[in-house]
Amino acid sequence: MPELPEMEALRRALREPVRAFPIARAGPAHIATLKTYDPPLAALDGRRFAGVERRGKRLFFPTDDGELVLVVHLMTAGRLRWLRPGEDGPKTPALRVLFEGGAQLVLTEAGAKKRAGVWLLEPEAAEAEVAHLGPDALAVARDQLAELLKADSRRLHPLLRDQRRLAGIGRAWSNEILHAARLSPFALSTQIGDDEVDRLYTAIQNELRRGLELRERGASDKKTYRIHDRLGQPCHLCGAPIARVDFEEHTIYYCPACQTGGRVLKDRRLSRLLR
Ligand SMILES: [Zn+2]
Repeated sequence: MPELPEMEALRRALREPVRAFPIARAGPAHIATLKTYDPPLAALDGRRFAGVERRGKRLFFPTDDGELVLVVHLMTAGRLRWLRPGEDGPKTPALRVLFEGGAQLVLTEAGAKKRAGVWLLEPEAAEAEVAHLGPDALAVARDQLAELLKADSRRLHPLLRDQRRLAGIGRAWSNEILHAARLSPFALSTQIGDDEVDRLYTAIQNELRRGLELRERGASDKKTYRIHDRLGQPCHLCGAPIARVDFEEHTIYYCPACQTGGRVLKDRRLSRLLR
């Protein structure tokens, strides 16, 4: 699942190629993927992208004439790739943008459910699309984070993933960050002290930068995540087995020894079913 480090690495990889050539033909796009119809994708034909910007987990591809922005949100299973001229690609991608000279930008999505989205918008409408996002997780200042935590009483894991509060962090990096900060995923945001806010701030910075560095080198999930998706494997800091707890519709990974004083968190989903 692409989050801030993955999307930022992708942005850096795409920014030079996408502006190197004019667009020869934008589209077709899967009907479920393309969320806008006016202007049509063909409005991009003959124009040139100015580069790529990132807004939380979304990518913006503004045209260099300042008139249009192609917005891409990969959600859980989307994948955006640059294909050099002649390079083999998918037959029916969710989106294809063909450039002069033959290179292509293709969006594919694994699985039957099409959740990734593409929007072609005028700049103001594109900004409105992301107006609800909180500050970027890599740009947030320590005191700004403290304010965010105090604003309402929330469990740390869902709070970190709330894009309205902080943009860019999802399930995997919440797991990594809370472990690095030695904080329980269920700790309440209003009940953590100054030292803990410091640790959380440092962990957000360090973990997202670590992820970005690894992803820029093309590292796999296995080489990148140390806590996420590692049930039963030894914690890299203390050796205790990583635990997992199901909470609402998703799963949290954590180290009981490092994060919850040895306490194993109860599976919230199961306890609700039994009630
Ligand atoms: Zn540990």
